[in-house]
Amino acid sequence: MTMLPNADGFFGEYGGQFIPDELLTVVNELSNAYDEVKDTPEFINEFKRLLKHFSGRPTPLYFCSNLTKKLGGAKLYLKREDLNHLGAHKVNNTIGQILLAKHMGKKKIIAETGAGQHGVATAATAALMGMECTIFMGETDIERQKLNVFRMEMMGAKVVPAMSGQRTLKEAVDEALGAWVADAQNTFYLLGSAVGPHPYPAMVRDFQSVIGKEARKQILELEGKLPDYLLACVGGGSNAIGLFYPFVGDEGVRMQGVEPAGRGMTPGNHAASLCLGEPGVLHGFRSYMLKDEKGEAAPVYSISAGLDYPSVGPEHSYLKDAGRAEYVAASDKEAVNAFFTLSREEGIIPALESSHALAQGLKLAPTLSSDKIIIVNLSGRGDKDVAQIQQMMQDGTISPE
Ligand SMILES: *Cc1c(COP(=O)(O)O)cnc(C)c1O
Repeated sequence: MTMLPNADGFFGEYGGQFIPDELLTVVNELSNAYDEVKDTPEFINEFKRLLKHFSGRPTPLYFCSNLTKKLGGAKLYLKREDLNHLGAHKVNNTIGQILLAKHMGKKKIIAETGAGQHGVATAATAALMGMECTIFMGETDIERQKLNVFRMEMMGAKVVPAMSGQRTLKEAVDEALGAWVADAQNTFYLLGSAVGPHPYPAMVRDFQSVIGKEARKQILELEGKLPDYLLACVGGGSNAIGLFYPFVGDEGVRMQGVEPAGRGMTPGNHAASLCLGEPGVLHGFRSYMLKDEKGEAAPVYSISAGLDYPSVGPEHSYLKDAGRAEYVAASDKEAVNAFFTLSREEGIIPALESSHALAQGLKLAPTLSSDKIIIVNLSGRGDKDVAQIQQMMQDGTISPE
């Protein structure tokens, strides 16, 4: 299971490269370059150095003593990805891909962004490495996320609005792919999650695996044994696969990915691709996806902008079918409750995305005995979500329980 993908980029029947020939040429150039450098000491050492000095790794594995006591069951630990530079796990991936871009002699970085978190992480690492940076963002998202647009621009990036269709993430990806093909010689496309055509899902997993590698070592030091459960939220699936992958061979460790159930598990109200989707092709890869009547990507919704994607990284589809990981869903309401609970009990404000994983932890912990251990991946900090929560409280759409 840990040897996948195969030479064609498949995890079982998922993944692959469903892209036009002109894109296949540039993607394969990238794939060959990645195979060439990924195991060299120079690349590994430079990656580790930047993770440590730019992002502040290793991130702590934090025991929630107050919450564990309150819930009265399994011990709850948090992998503190919120303490990375820029406040989330995304920078693990942008550092890795920018190093590859540099190795390939590329001068320009392009990326798509939805809520803006990947755009900000990309702009920051591009500034660090002295690369020109263009971020494609749907016009609707630009309106909704003005502060992140300003952040990217402050770090020297150019933000280009995607004006077609719904003017959100999907259109931003289409524009970025177009720009890549138009100037493939000089440009590197920095994809933000464990999705897209091969080699992106495997490459992003490799870079994010630092999360699971650290957590495995830390829990053995702290508890002298492996955890019983790993929980992580799933948007594209990068923070989840980053935590899961180093534990895939550890049979006793159960893994649960938590998808957004939004306002309810009915069409248009959630983004639970693995729980309710079916296999199909989107953005160049095959995976579970949510389809409309025509078989195209269905409209999706979640309170957290980082989770509303109609497909999911192909390795998760494989782990689901293989029965190695389970996928469940948490609603907006459950996520908001988890958001308030962690803030109050532990003094840590989690991202709304991460609050979905935490919500599952709050459900699970009381059902287990006190000798069990749960690790929740706290993928990001919630400062970015505080204004939205405040607004919703004022509107009366939510109220802390
Ligand atoms: C982007 C983001 C996610 C979702 O992306 P994955 O690829 O599924 O990890 C989750 N949490 C935070 C804090 C994010 O910024």
